[in-house]
Amino acid sequence: MDDAHRAEFAELLRARADEIDATLAALERDLGALADARADATADDEHDPEGVTLSGEWSRIAGLRDEQLRERVAVAAARERWDAGTYGTCESCGRAIPVGRLRIRPMATKCVACAERDGR
Ligand SMILES: [Zn+2]
Repeated sequence: MDDAHRAEFAELLRARADEIDATLAALERDLGALADARADATADDEHDPEGVTLSGEWSRIAGLRDEQLRERVAVAAARERWDAGTYGTCESCGRAIPVGRLRIRPMATKCVACAERDGR
């Protein structure tokens, strides 16, 4: 990986981390608003159509939040590899992960051959 690519991926990882933080903040806001709405709803949730809708919405947004949290862990790990100087190196065979693959999957830890062999 040359310097131009190193700069490109440093920026890409940083932007991805910012994006995740912004998305998480928005999701937390939505969950907070839902919590307030649920507190206002009747205790008899099951028979209250609005209560059921709120529960479904809660599950959906909580799922999105969990996804973002996992993604944030992956980005943090990629940035640690970056700091350690191992970013873009396959953790399995030690060869360089092609730049084209990293553009599509910036958090990839393995080259295509190893990822396919290991099933991920
Ligand atoms: Zn490999």
